[in-house]
Amino acid sequence: MIMVGSDRAKKTANLRQQLGKIRVMDFSPRKRRAASAAKSAGVDGMLVTHLPDVRYLSGFTGSNAALVLAGGRAVLFTDGRYTGQAKAEAAGTRVVIATKPAVVAACEWMESAEVRRCGFDAAHTTVAGLETMRKAVSGKVRRGMFVAVGSLVARMREVKDRGEIAKMRAAARTGCELFEGMLTYLEAGQTEAEVASTLEYAARLAGAEGMSFDTIVASGERSALPHGRATSAKLPKRGFVTLDFGVILDGYCSDMTRTVHMGKAMPGERDVYDSVLEAQEAAVAAVAPGVTAGEVDEAARSVLRRVKLDKYFCHSTGHGVGLEIHEGPRLAAKQTQILEQGMVITIEPGVYMPGRFGLRIEDMVLVTDKGGEVLTPSVKAWIEL
Ligand code: ZN
Ligand code: ZN
Repeated sequence: MIMVGSDRAKKTANLRQQLGKIRVMDFSPRKRRAASAAKSAGVDGMLVTHLPDVRYLSGFTGSNAALVLAGGRAVLFTDGRYTGQAKAEAAGTRVVIATKPAVVAACEWMESAEVRRCGFDAAHTTVAGLETMRKAVSGKVRRGMFVAVGSLVARMREVKDRGEIAKMRAAARTGCELFEGMLTYLEAGQTEAEVASTLEYAARLAGAEGMSFDTIVASGERSALPHGRATSAKLPKRGFVTLDFGVILDGYCSDMTRTVHMGKAMPGERDVYDSVLEAQEAAVAAVAPGVTAGEVDEAARSVLRRVKLDKYFCHSTGHGVGLEIHEGPRLAAKQTQILEQGMVITIEPGVYMPGRFGLRIEDMVLVTDKGGEVLTPSVKAWIEL
């Protein structure tokens, strides 16, 4: 069909409009920062194999990848299943479709590019993986070639940029909406598994790519299990139900916990709840840039110590969250890491009394220039259903 001038102009305008909606993310600042961190660590190349790190630096979301940063270049190695996807997602990075394991192809490429010291993250490299890397290069360069440089990319990921914060806000908001929906659904007699699957089904319908982790539903005596997986146990007529769950939206995880009470509280339950809530709010209030992770942990722990419940608080106060459900920083006793603006952390103290009951309250908190902003504002006051 012949296109007349005005049609063509209209189509071009339409196309421009369409393309304008696709925000192509520029990963070069991240790649540059990672390369300069590698240089400071004394290596002239860097091999990134941990998939969330690969995604962070290139945009590629496939399940098999090795990314090399060397000599101002970034090259992504993957396999034939991802030919189209890698080119689309990692548009700003050179893509090599390898016919051998991605990590082998990456190491061979580095040797040919005359990389002499290649940094890798020991936390995400197995002994067998390191052996594969060593065997991929010739004996001439093998000695001293691979150097463990720590989790450089994971450290970069701890501070979120504007785009990431927007995604995390959206994931956290979806989590809150799901929780609020569950309040009208929960009933004594439902099994924990039913509750978890209903929540997860609703999450999918709300656009979640998946759950951040296996949904925790711990009811009655089982609420004393800090990580009680949903089982066939039935929600009690009277007792606590702890829901700890998260959704993944656009790659970013949410994480929140609320504990509600089925029926009227039994003696002592309400006091314990109020103490955990006070501890949680004290830790949220302690969040600020420049404060150590240990100080935030202590803010929660000291409240529980005052009412002699600290011995039942058997885990750390929180963790960073982002592309992975558990990232740095770790908010635990005596942790000296300093909180920085842009970090997204959880604050989740709990009390677990074996054979009786337990409860936890968890928010996601963004470290701002002034303090902490709760990203999961669902009600935390006592709820009786
Ligand atoms: Zn959680
Ligand atoms: Zn958590």
